[in-house]
Amino acid sequence: MPSPDLHRPDLFAQLLQGNRRALARTITLLESRKPEHQEQARALLQQLLPYTGKALRIGISGTPGAGKSTFIEAFGLHLIQQNLKVAVLTIDPSSGVSGGSILADKTRMEKLSSRPEAFIRPSPSAGVLGGVALHTREVMLACEAAGFEVILIETVGVGQSETLVSSLTDVFLMLTLPNAGDDLQAVKRGILELVDLVLINKTDLLPEKANLTQVQLESAFRLQKTAAKVLQISALQGKGIAQVWEHLKLWREKHAADLLHKRQDQQAAWFEEHLKQLVWLHFQAQVNPQKREALRQQARTGTMDPLNAAHLLLEDTHGEKHFPEDH
Ligand code: GDP
Repeated sequence: MPSPDLHRPDLFAQLLQGNRRALARTITLLESRKPEHQEQARALLQQLLPYTGKALRIGISGTPGAGKSTFIEAFGLHLIQQNLKVAVLTIDPSSGVSGGSILADKTRMEKLSSRPEAFIRPSPSAGVLGGVALHTREVMLACEAAGFEVILIETVGVGQSETLVSSLTDVFLMLTLPNAGDDLQAVKRGILELVDLVLINKTDLLPEKANLTQVQLESAFRLQKTAAKVLQISALQGKGIAQVWEHLKLWREKHAADLLHKRQDQQAAWFEEHLKQLVWLHFQAQVNPQKREALRQQARTGTMDPLNAAHLLLEDTHGEKHFPEDH
């Protein structure tokens, strides 16, 4: 990997001016696994902090084929027409597992990606889901500091990634199809609890089914006592796109106070998440691998209960008992 040219003192200034190369370099730094880069990345994040937070952060999910990239292209171009700068980030839980991103294996959002007002960041090609999302949050902050006013974070419809995206965003959209059999199952799995707005896409194909799906979804929301809204669109024909933005603008005005709290809660939750990861990494660095393996074998073969084996290893590593009695 080429050096991200991190030592240039003007990186920060250029980033604040919205320089795309500076943004790309910053992202390389944020995603770097080298310890010295990570330290610089943390310093930069702290420096960026006062310049972040002004964007509307929108999560978008939907099963493959629901029309996410078609929608994002149409929606992004509409935002640019409104003089807004838009960044598109992707969390793809299939990348790394399958060896390739299902989202990246086709040319996506061609028109949008050629616009200077847009910044599209494909999913990193490897990494655990949590790790990818961790960087996505940092990348989002860098985009905000670079002046992007709307951040779209996209994911495919897999439960865990949706929870992650909603922990990063202000408002959560789900794209579904007029004959939403599968997606309605999501209602039962509780995914709709995260959703603020459902877009029934491809209504040009099956308008009657779209109406039926809308009624079904609205009654599901009533049952859940959530205020989520359902809109019909055709991403391909550009129908309903302007209404989506109008709705989101109103939503932002109406929820301004809640949004502040939501972001504060998200930040507190990320603190806990980072803490968990750091404590785990710290433990991994401290633990004696032979003892760990010996205790793992004892748990495995049943000579010691797994709970006792885990306790013993922790005690051994830290040299004393200083963890909850009730575990
Ligand atoms: P993604 O996998 O969710 O990103 O879905 P894509 O945006 O790639 O769309 C999948 C297919 O559906 C493509 O062939 C699109 O052209 C098509 N498509 C997307 N939106 C619409 C729509 O509103 N109407 C119709 N008829 N086709 C659409």
